[in-house]
Amino acid sequence: MKTFDVYPLTPITPVKAKGSWLWDNKNEKYLDLYGGHAVISIGHSHPYYVEKISEQLNSIGFYSNSIINPLQEELAYKLGALSGYSDYNLFLCNSGAEANENALKLASFKNERKKIIAFEKSFHGRTSLSVAATNDSSINAEINKTHEIEFLPLNNEEGFLNTIDDSVCAVIIEGIQGVAGIHIPTDSFLELLRKKCDETGAILILDEVQSGYGRSGKFFAHQYAGIKPDLITIAKGMGNGFPIAGVLINPDFKAKYGLLGTTFGGNHLACAAAIAVLDILTSENLIESAFALGVKWMKQLKSIEGIKEVRGMGLMIGIEFDFPIAELKNTLTNEHHVLVGTASNKNVIRLLPALNVKQEEIELFNNALTKSLTKQLQNT
Ligand code: PLP
Repeated sequence: MKTFDVYPLTPITPVKAKGSWLWDNKNEKYLDLYGGHAVISIGHSHPYYVEKISEQLNSIGFYSNSIINPLQEELAYKLGALSGYSDYNLFLCNSGAEANENALKLASFKNERKKIIAFEKSFHGRTSLSVAATNDSSINAEINKTHEIEFLPLNNEEGFLNTIDDSVCAVIIEGIQGVAGIHIPTDSFLELLRKKCDETGAILILDEVQSGYGRSGKFFAHQYAGIKPDLITIAKGMGNGFPIAGVLINPDFKAKYGLLGTTFGGNHLACAAAIAVLDILTSENLIESAFALGVKWMKQLKSIEGIKEVRGMGLMIGIEFDFPIAELKNTLTNEHHVLVGTASNKNVIRLLPALNVKQEEIELFNNALTKSLTKQLQNT
């Protein structure tokens, strides 16, 4: 049997990883500033993380979700404390798409409506409802026939005001649009969404799958706007690569048996990984440091000639050029051994490093980018 070839892969086979570095099977070393679609939050093979997962594996390693698991309580407690959402409840699952699927389901259970407002260029995953709420022409989004989805331009208050009414089930928005190439909802736009959802009974869902877990310099990107969503979805950095995801649920939503379910969600090993991540974010002050590193890095990037725009918050940064970045990315990978991400906007480099990336690693990237850009501009 062969694997089903449906997405491109970076042509590197890593065999070892430490901090922000990967070593491939030819013993070549690469600086990883993309972290496998933003999943590496506390760095590769962090000793405390490895120790906690190993300990768990040697006690009760794998177990599905049919028996009391005190680690779920510990995870919910620590997540509530660090995120500022102690009063919310936590439903654990396995991926970002699944978290959004469950959030959209909870919303329609609550108000029994079907219309969903999402935003242009959004990405929410690939289960049926989450992909229906995804507005990316490169993704084959078969619209889910059970729900009516309306896509609106991000940050366009008038468009939103003309559409929101008491037939709307939910408004779903990314804390920062990642796949699209780093686009940030304004504070006033998020405040308006909150206000109109309150007035109409629509459920406000913040998809913090990519922008959450400290990446923006706050635990959640929406916390810059000072609003509280009804539901918040999380994944990616939560397990530092171990698959785990969740929905933070406002206490107005009442739990009852059968409402949601999962076999693997919140299993022992996944919880051990997620608790270790929260412990490290706390003990190493990684959220504050992501903020400070991001401010400095974006300022440095803005001074590099040949860049059209730098957008971002904390360590979620988009660098836009006047031309497609494919060649630039190849030069960075092959000649400088630096791994960066792309976006659905082909002119954008996406940086999603581990939150403990070092200043000297950032400078190494800046130099590599400057040299690669000079080479590219000379050749055109
Ligand atoms: N939501 C956002 C904002 C994402 O960026 C992604 C993945 O890139 C998802 C949801 C889907 O997550 P997963 O691939 O874990 O299903």
